Amino acid sequence: MASLTGGTYPPAIEDSAERDALAQEIKDWSIAHGLAVRPPPAVVENNAEGILAMNAPVTLFPSPFPKSCFREAKAIQTTYNELYASISNDEEFIAGLVQEIAGADDFIANLWQVHQRVKKEGYVQNLSLGLFRSDYMVHQDGDRLQIKQVEFNTIASSFGGLSAQTSLLHKHLAQTSYPHLQDTAAASTQLDLPENDSAKGLAAGLKAAYDAYGKSEQGHPTCVLFLVQGGERNVFDQRHLEYELQQSSVPVFRLPFSEILQRTSISPKRQLLYTLPTNSSKVFEVAVVYLRAGYGPSDYPDQAAWEARYQIERSSAIVCPTVLTQLAGMKKVQQVLATPEQSSSTSPVNNSDNYPTALKRFIPQEHNQKALLRTFTNIYPLDTTPSGLTARKLATDPELCKRYVMKPQREGGGNNFYRTSIPAHLKTIPEKHWSSYILMEIITPPPLTNTILRNGQLEKGGVICELGIYGTCLWDSTSGEILHNKLAGYLLRTKGDQSEEGGVAAGFGCMDSVALV
Ligand code: ADP
Ligand code: MG
Ligand code: MG
Repeated sequence: MASLTGGTYPPAIEDSAERDALAQEIKDWSIAHGLAVRPPPAVVENNAEGILAMNAPVTLFPSPFPKSCFREAKAIQTTYNELYASISNDEEFIAGLVQEIAGADDFIANLWQVHQRVKKEGYVQNLSLGLFRSDYMVHQDGDRLQIKQVEFNTIASSFGGLSAQTSLLHKHLAQTSYPHLQDTAAASTQLDLPENDSAKGLAAGLKAAYDAYGKSEQGHPTCVLFLVQGGERNVFDQRHLEYELQQSSVPVFRLPFSEILQRTSISPKRQLLYTLPTNSSKVFEVAVVYLRAGYGPSDYPDQAAWEARYQIERSSAIVCPTVLTQLAGMKKVQQVLATPEQSSSTSPVNNSDNYPTALKRFIPQEHNQKALLRTFTNIYPLDTTPSGLTARKLATDPELCKRYVMKPQREGGGNNFYRTSIPAHLKTIPEKHWSSYILMEIITPPPLTNTILRNGQLEKGGVICELGIYGTCLWDSTSGEILHNKLAGYLLRTKGDQSEEGGVAAGFGCMDSVALV
């Protein structure tokens, strides 16, 4: 994409004093504005008092990003919200996929079990809330640049809080530091930096659910409960959402996932009651539960943790997400949407005359189906269907596998197998369990360079950007009616081009914002 920027932006900044001065600006602004994380034990041995924070890793400059791609990703978000709301409502569809996976994957089996138990006694809350994030990379097809979806997140979609701050940081630098750079071409570049209301947008989604819940029948005050991981380092990201919500006078509390059973109870009408740990006379009825934990096996070390998830699921609180909505985010769902349903077909998905019928099941309008389809890349099952058998050949071939990433049904980064590590991993698992993975073509965006400030060090070089678009959706899972469906800002994450994974929290990527070109 260097051609798009004439090769002058982002500048390399050869002068080390100038580079350090810019880094210092960023370090101070970031701490002053909560663009920060808690330090890992490897960086600070003793943070026992809980007073230390450090800069979130960030690029020195907003990365150039094609305007048309950015527009397209934003424009399609409400359709994606509708798609995933609709999938969550289709228990039969999800059950079919869970059946293929559960034998090899206890985590998915246990989640399904929670849903089954609640279904048996009957759900007492019809409303579901999704705070979603659809992730993309830019794919170059000849002259054409096209966004391709990496994945769709339905649980704990993070960085909406830090992302809004990163956009503000880069806007601030564009007004203050960049114009003084020695590189006159870069200094005079007028950057097109779009607004980013990710923190406000996500908070507005939570507020919509909070309002929809209504008043407590028992006369308790109502609240929003954030379920979080113990020792969470990405706490300020979450805090930004909390502070936004609290600005509209919504009581918000944070509760470690591991303390659900101690701190909450279920009333006879299954209202979820939360008692303040500091004042047992203060009881709140939980209107909305927002999970920033519970997305992976490590949050469920024992049966009590599964009981805790069950307690949340069976309550009358609006849960973000319910088990079904979480399961709708399985990579398997994304694969089924992208794979043509004709069982004889092994052809790629990107043939708009022959779009997969699974999409038709959820999205009635043809133009919306086509718009979604344009964002899909080739994804295969690894089962024994014709396309699964094709994929097995690709995945086990030492050359062909280099174009693919293999993914299990997991969230949070660090779970995938890339390129040549795929055949070796497949050898370690029984063939009957291969179908719990999907095989996806690797998207290779046009080359870009930038400088990353991480742990106080500057890393300059080739980078890969991943755009996330947030969306919020509140719907009635019984009637299918959508009560709220909104776009909620964006995230740009950037990683070194030698790294396969891009998670900021997992230590691979960094925060960035877009400079539209
Ligand atoms: P998770 O739910 O754990 O975040 P992802 O599917 O987002 O899983 O994969 C993690 C990371 O791996 C992504 O952020 C991206 O950097 C990389 N990745 C995943 N799929 C692809 C792909 N098809 N092409 C290129 N990179 C990918
Ligand atoms: Mg991801
Ligand atoms: Mg994910």
